[in-house]
Amino acid sequence: AKNPMRVAVTGAAGQIGYSLLFRIANGDLLGKDQPVILQLLEIDNEKAQKALKGVMMELEDCAFPLLAGMSAHSDPMTAFKDADVALLVGARPRGPGMERKDLLEANAQIFTVQGKALDAVASRNVKVLVVGNPANTNAYIAMKSAPNLPAKNFTAMLRLDHNRALSQVAIKSGVPVSQIHKMCVWGNHSPTMYADYRFAVTDDGKSLKDLINDEQWNRDTFLPTVGKRGAAIIDARGASSAASAANAAIDHVRDWVLGTNGEWTTMGVPSDGSYGIPEGVIFGFPVTTENGEYKIVQGLAVDEFSQERINNTLKELEEERAGVAHLLK
Ligand code: NDP
Repeated sequence: AKNPMRVAVTGAAGQIGYSLLFRIANGDLLGKDQPVILQLLEIDNEKAQKALKGVMMELEDCAFPLLAGMSAHSDPMTAFKDADVALLVGARPRGPGMERKDLLEANAQIFTVQGKALDAVASRNVKVLVVGNPANTNAYIAMKSAPNLPAKNFTAMLRLDHNRALSQVAIKSGVPVSQIHKMCVWGNHSPTMYADYRFAVTDDGKSLKDLINDEQWNRDTFLPTVGKRGAAIIDARGASSAASAANAAIDHVRDWVLGTNGEWTTMGVPSDGSYGIPEGVIFGFPVTTENGEYKIVQGLAVDEFSQERINNTLKELEEERAGVAHLLK
């Protein structure tokens, strides 16, 4: 049997955590033959720690054959010890009257501490996925706070945007999701992200752009629908998306670890300068993955409309980065 892998999850008693942990323990993240140990972090407060205990009781009650152990933590230095995968879900939500700047700073604190802890105690190959918002900038801060880990180990979740885009294109075109390939999303996990189906093709090589053949739909319906989906769900459900966010986190890490077999997906990864995105910016790119490594898809044409969108989402990321620069010396 395989040795268990250690999966650390922060914000483990939150909404996303509640959808995520059971699927990890069920083998959806790392494979149905891969035992896992869950190392769960929650804030050092009685209510959160108690809620975490409750979730752990439920995990026990599932008697998952692959769950080889679990532990509760309030200190990232113990939660991240030897972690092979770290899912950074917990983040400070925007409170009433809180400016974007305050939100950035509150989260910068959290992700500086967590980046340092990963640097000190996690596996040198740890795969880090940041879900907590602002996800790209939080991932950037964690990466910068962990100089002894390879920068490429730090990623942010764009997969929910990617999956949302896939479903919208499937509904519009009548082509099932399972038969659509080469979708991608560029940029920041925020309403500025640019979901791009210009390269998407069906199983038999037909262009989705040609099948849909409706630029106005792209501009006026598709992009706003995907971009504002989070807000639409809050409005409908009275609570943020949680199960779909957890599902996207599973998809992201599973594909990173187990490979996409040549299929494209979207990950927020530190730029290597591809497509003119400054090096180090955590940016959503089309990627393929193999042997536990991702590669940015190269050589795609960027037309004027797409360039404008990419510039716009990059500008937002640069502003976020400037907003936290003083915290990262
Ligand atoms: P959720 O589990 O619903 O959300 C967690 C984070 O994921 C938020 O930052 C949220 O951003 C983000 N997120 C990213 N994409 C999505 C998406 N598509 N839909 C919804 N959320 C998304 O939050 P809860 O408040 O239920 O739980 C958070 C937990 O984290 C709490 O238990 C809290 O105690 C803990 N926490 C832990 C910290 C730590 O480990 N140091 C620090 C702060 C909190 P957004 O807010 O924009 O929706």
